[in-house]
Amino acid sequence: MHTATITGSKKTYNVGKIVCLGRNYLDHIRELNNEISDQPVIFCKPASSLLKNDGQVVIPTYSSDCHHELELAVLIGKRGKNIPLADALSYVCGYGVALDLTLRDVQTQQKANGLPWEIAKGFDTSCPLSDFVPASQITNPDNLDLSLKVNGQLRQHGNTNMMMRSVAEIVSEFSEFYTLDEGDIILTGTPAGVGPIVSGDILEGVIEQVGSLRVSVV
Ligand code: MG
Repeated sequence: MHTATITGSKKTYNVGKIVCLGRNYLDHIRELNNEISDQPVIFCKPASSLLKNDGQVVIPTYSSDCHHELELAVLIGKRGKNIPLADALSYVCGYGVALDLTLRDVQTQQKANGLPWEIAKGFDTSCPLSDFVPASQITNPDNLDLSLKVNGQLRQHGNTNMMMRSVAEIVSEFSEFYTLDEGDIILTGTPAGVGPIVSGDILEGVIEQVGSLRVSVV
């Protein structure tokens, strides 16, 4: 069983599903020449993709272009379906730092063939994740600075105020498609600056008020 924890709490959350939003930052949509759509771009990573802080990323042999995507992670604290926008943040119990590691070459090929992205997004260790901080400690999840360094060099820098959908909008909208359960995790999209990682790299993600995440690549 894959679990998540909130700093300062003894409670352990069993992670059911990790639901991810793509194309939520305009600058990232532009850098990959993707189209802006009214429909949310949603995909799931299995719980088996999780990797703890200080863990080691293993890039699958079927890819030669694995990209980092730094994202604000949201931990769901109670079950909900068709959650009204006004109540959405009450379903969030914690915030964390995550990476949505993506096999860009595989994803590009899957897209070209009209096939799902899962094999590019769901591999073991594709979801490094920090511990969560209690939601009550976050003043405004839609105004948090986030940055990622690789080997000490800044690669991604943005703010969640650049997200096209707010955290509340994402929780509410996702709950139309999936029942959200306690322990589910939502990834909220990445700002611009995505790029390749290779063996030996050290990745360090930081989100204001939330914390940090550090992993290495085997
Ligand atoms: Mg992503």
